[in-house]
Parts: sequence; structure tokens; C-alpha cells
Amino acid sequence: MSRAGSEGAAVIVVGGGVTGLSAGWWLARDGTDVLVIEAGAIGSAASGRNGGGCSHHHSPLFLEEQRLWPMLDELLGYPTEFRPNRIRIALDERQFRLYRRALENGARQGYRTDVLDAKQIRALVPFAGEVYGGYFHHFGGHANPHRTVQAYAWALQDHGGRILQHAPVLGFDTRGNRVVGVRTSRSAFACDHLVIAAGPATGALAAQLGVSVPLMSARAEMIVTEPLALMQTGGVDGNGLYGRQTLRGNLAYGGGPHEWVELQDTGGRAYSTVLQGSIARRLRALFPQAAHARVIRSWAGFIENTPDGRPVIDRPASPGNLTIATLSSVGFGLSPAAGRAVRDLVVSGTCGFADLSTLGLGRFAGLEPGWRALQGWLPAAAGGE
Ligand SMILES: Cc1cc2nc3c(=O)[nH]c(=O)nc-3n(C[C@H](O)[C@H](O)[C@H](O)COP(=O)(O)OP(=O)(O)OC[C@H]3O[C@@H](n4cnc5c(N)ncnc54)[C@H](O)[C@@H]3O)c2cc1C
Repeated sequence: MSRAGSEGAAVIVVGGGVTGLSAGWWLARDGTDVLVIEAGAIGSAASGRNGGGCSHHHSPLFLEEQRLWPMLDELLGYPTEFRPNRIRIALDERQFRLYRRALENGARQGYRTDVLDAKQIRALVPFAGEVYGGYFHHFGGHANPHRTVQAYAWALQDHGGRILQHAPVLGFDTRGNRVVGVRTSRSAFACDHLVIAAGPATGALAAQLGVSVPLMSARAEMIVTEPLALMQTGGVDGNGLYGRQTLRGNLAYGGGPHEWVELQDTGGRAYSTVLQGSIARRLRALFPQAAHARVIRSWAGFIENTPDGRPVIDRPASPGNLTIATLSSVGFGLSPAAGRAVRDLVVSGTCGFADLSTLGLGRFAGLEPGWRALQGWLPAAAGGE
């Protein structure tokens, strides 16, 4: 794609999280002139604050997610600290039955899962206690969110892509059915194609172009313990928690309950709350042999949620040169595949490796105006829990 002019780029991507950076990297490695514009620092939102899980067997992008992660360090030229496989521990029979769905979903798509008894779990996960059983998935895995954000950014720049940080996008210029410019707090840029990949802010930005992207934000929290002896497989879930053991040995875990928030009321600040106590209690139950470990850090981030929990990756009919990508809470793991899908949509209007029909905006055509209240997704101040 050609360049839109000296003060612009052929493709402007709004949002320097993993979705926007991966899309920018895929475009740049094709030789497209791309500029990623980020309101703050790259990865400072959910992309740098998540659990690092890469196991989305419900997604149409799952096969590509699984194909790309094991080769991503080589493709990018920088480390993501990706580690393959996932163990899920069931503390009781009810959890064991519930978690079986991942085995079935994986098997349908050609991936193996071993069923583990309590003894096998304790051999693989020395921090576990009395458990019912569990699963060893020969798919999925986990990576370091900060390393991954940085790796995408460096790789994008290696291919000639550009990143502008600390430049919130304020508005757009249109001509006819096309977006021709992006206005930021610092200056304006011309573009031939616009990608909005701004996480929870995607809805408000797309609305400026007359495109409705229904989203509700939730605050989600993570806690991190002091480093412990390294487990053989660092990706261990269970008891309503997701997370991983870092390569330095810390247990970094999160997972419900989430708190619904109006993004504009938060001032952009995502701080930890008493919810971290719930995570710590459930982590102690999951890993009783690590109950002595002190929590040394915690943080929160805002998750973007669509009404049906599935991502939006789509090119609306109007404006004709706009692509939207917001990942509805599964964006870290899917980022290598989501970025490639965005590249395909930008370049040819259709995704060449996966069926994205379930991720289109058309599915929200009949959405009730009060869908947030109907689903009970209300901030506490508005009557939610
Ligand atoms: C605690 C927590 C745990 C999670 N765990 C996992 C997990 O284990 N696995 C997984 O796959 N996913 C997980 N997620 C979800 C995942 O982090 C997100 O789905 C993913 O990071 C979304 O990436 P993104 O780039 O689309 O959006 P974001 O990371 O939200 O990035 C969007 C960027 O757009 C920028 N932006 C917004 N408005 C503007 C503007 N006007 N101008 C310019 N830039 C703008 C923001 O500053 C931000 O940097 C978790 C999320 C949280 C919070």
C-alpha cells in the first residue's frame, strides 16, 4: 500500500496494545507503510496487565493462535517467553465435569488432552493439595505480556513501521465514504485506511464515524506472589483462576469477580481493590503447598466486553476504509492471529485463513438499546453489584 502523504501513513492503527501492534507488525512485514498511534505508552492498558494465557479453543482464530505462538519468537525476532501446554486442576467433581469442555473443544479441532488423577496432578504441580483430578492440554500456553508487547513493537519498527506514543486520537476527518485523516493531541495525519484497535475505547472512537460497537468495560485484577521453585509446566489454571508461573517463579493470577465500570468515570486509572483478597483466597485453595508465599504486587486493568463475549474483527460497509478490532477479553492469546486477520481485512477485505463471520458487527443488529442493564452489566453506582 502506498503512503498517504508526508504527514501520514497508508494505514493508521489507533491503539498500541497487542491487537494494534500485532496488526501493525503484520502490515509492516508486508511492506505496508503503517503508523500506530497510542494515547499513552504502548501496552499500558490491558495488553500489559493480563494473565498471559494463549488457549482460546472457542475462537475461530484458535487454530491460527496455536500455530503461531510456538514460532512467534522466531517470527518477531524477540522473546515473548511463550511456554506451551496448560494444566487445569479440578478441586471437586463438579469442576472436573465443567472443565471437560476444553478437552472436547480441543479434540474436535485435533488437539490432545490427557485426563489426570490426583496423584498425577500432584506430581506435575507440587503446589497442589487434595484435588479431584484435572487435565493436561497439549495445546495453549502462556507468555509474558510485557515482553510480547515490546517484541511486537520492535519487530514492527524493524520492518519500517512507526509508533507514536502519548498522542490520544481526538477525532477523524472524512471525505465521502472514507476516513482521510486522524487528529491527535499533537498533530493530524492523513491515511488511506484506518484501523481502530483501542480496546474498551473502540466503541467511543467508532461512534465518531457512525459505527456502533457495543462494549462494556470491566475492571479485572491480578496478584503476584514472591518467586517460588519453578514448576515443570507454568500454565496451571483452576478454581475460577487463570494465570501462570513466570520464568522467575512468581505466581501471577487473576480471575473474577470482575467489576463493571463506565470507562469515562475512571479517569483512565485501573487500581487494585478488595477483589484481590478473593483471588488470594482461591489461589491458596488451588495451591495449598504455596500458601506461605507472600503477595508482592497487584494491579488491575480494564477488559473490553461485547454483549456475547466474542471479539469484533470486521470491516463495516461505511466508512469503506475502516477496520475494527476489539477482542472482548481474549485479546492477548489471540493477538498473533487477530493481527494477521486485521492485515487480511485491510489488504483484501476478507480473512484468508479463518471464517470471521461470527465476529462481525452485523450480529448486533437486533441488540436491545438497554442491553447492559438487561445483562446486569451495571457499575455499582448505577445499581449493579
Ligand atoms: C487482568 C486481566 C487479565 C487478562 N488475562 C488474559 C489472558 O490470560 N489471556 C488473554 O488472551 N487475554 C486476557 N485479558 C484480556 C486481554 O488483555 C485483552 O483482551 C487485550 O489486551 C486487548 O488488547 P487490545 O490491544 O485490543 O486493547 P488494549 O490492551 O486495551 O489496548 C488498546 C490501546 O488503545 C489505546 N487507546 C485508547 N483510546 C485511544 C485514543 N483515543 N487514541 C490513541 N490510543 C488510544 C489505549 O491507551 C490502549 O493502549 C486480560 C485482561 C485483564 C485486564
